[in-house]
This record gives sequence, C-alpha cells and structure tokens, in this order.
Amino acid sequence: MPFLIALHADVLVTMDAQRREIPDGALVAEGPAVKWVGPTNELPESYRQALDSGAAQRLDMRGHVVVPGLVNTHHHMYQSLTRAVPAAQDAELFSWLGNLYMLWSHLTPEMIRVSTRTAMAELMLSGCTTTSDHLYLYPNGATLDDSIAAAQEMGMRFHAARGSMSVGRSKGGLPPDAVVEEEAAILRDSQRLIEKYHDDRRHSMLRIALAPCSPFSVSRELMRESARMARHYGVSLHTHLAENENDVAYSREQFGLTPAQYAEELGWVGHDVWHAHCVKLDPEGIALFARTGTGVAHCPCSNMRLASGIAPVRAMRDAGVPVGLGVDGSASNDGAHLLGEARQAMLLQRVGHGPAAMSAREALEIATLGGARVLNRDDIGALAPGMSADFVAFDMTAAGYAGAGHDPVAALVFCTPGHVATSVIDGRVVVRDGHLLTADLPNVLARHRQLAHDLFLRASGG
Ligand SMILES: [Zn+2]
Repeated sequence: MPFLIALHADVLVTMDAQRREIPDGALVAEGPAVKWVGPTNELPESYRQALDSGAAQRLDMRGHVVVPGLVNTHHHMYQSLTRAVPAAQDAELFSWLGNLYMLWSHLTPEMIRVSTRTAMAELMLSGCTTTSDHLYLYPNGATLDDSIAAAQEMGMRFHAARGSMSVGRSKGGLPPDAVVEEEAAILRDSQRLIEKYHDDRRHSMLRIALAPCSPFSVSRELMRESARMARHYGVSLHTHLAENENDVAYSREQFGLTPAQYAEELGWVGHDVWHAHCVKLDPEGIALFARTGTGVAHCPCSNMRLASGIAPVRAMRDAGVPVGLGVDGSASNDGAHLLGEARQAMLLQRVGHGPAAMSAREALEIATLGGARVLNRDDIGALAPGMSADFVAFDMTAAGYAGAGHDPVAALVFCTPGHVATSVIDGRVVVRDGHLLTADLPNVLARHRQLAHDLFLRASGG
C-alpha cells in the first residue's frame, strides 16, 4: 500500500493515551492507517529510504501544527440552502422550525446532493475529516443515497443518519403533514440502507445510523422499532433531545417524563446512542448518560443562535458522559466551521461557569476523541499506530496566528479559527495548500447558489 509521510510539523498533537504533543513531529501512514508517529529525527531508516527513493508521498509540515482530523457529530447539510432566512432569523426552536418546514418541503434530490457537497467542503476546510449528517425529510424523491453519493465524491468519512418524521400536525406533531412519512416505509428504507451501505470494519468510510428526528415528530413505536432494528444490525441511534425548555415541557406534557426518562424508557441509552444538544439534561439525566455511555453532540453556536441555553458540558464531562461537537444545521448555525465550534464550546462554558470551565486543549479533545467516542468509534480521533490516517494541518504563519508561538496548540482554539492548509482522510490528501482536491468548488458553489434561489421560488409558488 502507498506510504504517506508528513514530517517537520512544528507540533504534532497526537491525542494518544499520554496526550503527547511532539515538537518537530512526523507521521507515517500506509494506506488507511497510521503506522508510526514520533519526532522527525527518529523516523525509522526504512521510511527515510522510502522518501529518498520516491516510494513515499512527502508532506513537509514546517510552520504547521498537525492535529487529528476533527469529528462533527451533528449536522443537517441540506440546510446550507436556507441560511439567514429572514423569517427564521430571530426565532426560538419551535417557531423557527414552523417557518422553515414549508420551505424544505420543496427540496429535490439534486438539492440534497449539492448542499451536502457544499456543507462537506466547508467542514473539510475547517478541519473536519469525519462527519455525521442527519437527514430527516425526503420530499420529491430525495433519499439518503443522495447524501451518501456526495460524501463518496468528497472523500469524507461519513456517518449517514437516516432521519425520519411521522407525526404531522394533524396528529398533534410539529411538522406539516406534507413532510412526514409512514412509519412502515421509514423502517423499510432504514433496513434497505443498512443492508446496502453499512460498513462496520475498522477504518470504515461509511456507517449508517437510525435517527428519528425528535420525540416531538415521531411516535413511541417508531423510536422503539428503530432501536430494535439498530441493535439487530449493530448500528448507532441518533436524535435530538432536551434542546430547550419547550422541548422539556412537551416531554412532560405528552409522556409525563423528562427527556432523559423518555429516552431510557424507549431503550435509547447506551454507547451506541448519541443525542444532539441536551442543553436541558438534568442531573439525573447526566448520571444516566454517564452510567450507560450515552453520547451527547454539543452544538454551542446553534444553542446560542436559538437562545436555547448553555449545555451543562462541564458537568457532563466531569461525570464521564461522552461529549462531541456538532455544528448543527446551517439554518440554526449559519457558519459550519468545526474548529470555530470548538472555540465557541470553550467560550460558552466560560460564560456559564467561569474561566476555568474549559481549556483550549479540552475543547480540542472534545472535537477529536470526544466526537470519536460519541460516534462509537475507536479508530479515529487520535494519531497513533493502528488509528485511521485522518489528520489536518494549520499554517501558523497566517496573520490570525501571529504572535501565538508561545503555545501554538492552544492558539488553534483561542485565535480566530483558520482554514486548514492540508487535510488527509483515510490516507489520502484531500486538501493541499488550502485547496480542496476532491471537488471543483467554484462550480459546486455556483450550482448551490442557483438551487438555493430555485428553492425559494418554488416555495413562493414561482
Ligand atoms: Zn439538529
């Protein structure tokens, strides 16, 4: 298999068991896996020879900090088409959704494909190498296959979450009837997707998760049946939970339970389950999640944008709850910059709990190892022999990092978040010199602009 050797990184952040940060660091990848990590001057002779003979691809990382690829655990990529929509700019969660559902009912398969490629480009340039996407409405013939095709084109490691909504307004739910599906059809399609795509091997580039949208848009039965199917096939479960006070009130009124109690009753806890937001997870819920290894996708920008509150991440981490980051959909976080999300996670915990509530290194750990654990993986999130060859490099000579040479690792989180200079996913260079190699980005963005325009025209009857 081909070798790729990165050397002379100013600092190579491993996130390994000792949390080593290696000055003048080097890394050797063979195919999809990391083979060796250490100081450049200790690079084994056989790898030096491979470099000299041209048998290995060389990445000179002088002037750069190298970190494990960041992991995004929550997104709705189609929402890239509906950023900064005026009617939804200043609303809280439930009225925000009400404003957007009708617009989204006009999505087409091409819109899903192009918006997913666009969202992935933005993530890749901001340091992300593994992402989940939660697609929960399938109007006009759209399928999760559209998202999966986009991920394969972009070369991203992908956890495709088969979302769903089945309780429309006529049954007391939040979404309009036009965007919900029959539960039998949801389960049939879920099974089809798992059998067609799910790859549970180490270094897998594609996994499926089952992801009813939220407790207020599907029935108890669908939550239970999804859990049963997920466990039968060994795939993960994902949904939104305890996002804000209204969400908690709905759960108490409809089910007589807190969101955490409801999740437990449905079998929605365990290391194979992750819930987005959990801003209002109570102390009993935190203890339950810690005990069961249930993961949380923390989405600080979205929580601030919708004024949902400050998720108790400090308490979750102290209790041992797996916490990863999510940029969330572009309609509730109009900027999907994953390194920026790590920065906001750190800043928001400090707003809530004081300056010692989260360090820059802890924010980076949540963005890498934390996300890996939330997605139930032990092959990403750190750079060590046997781990997946996913890493990114930031150019510390850029203006935004000027003067931060005292601690370039912390600078990644404290300074204005930059774009990656280099990104490697699955041992393959996908960004070089800040340019995406897996897509003709100007063309993708031009088409995306046109489709965003078309969507508004269709929605307004034009
Ligand atoms: Zn979401």
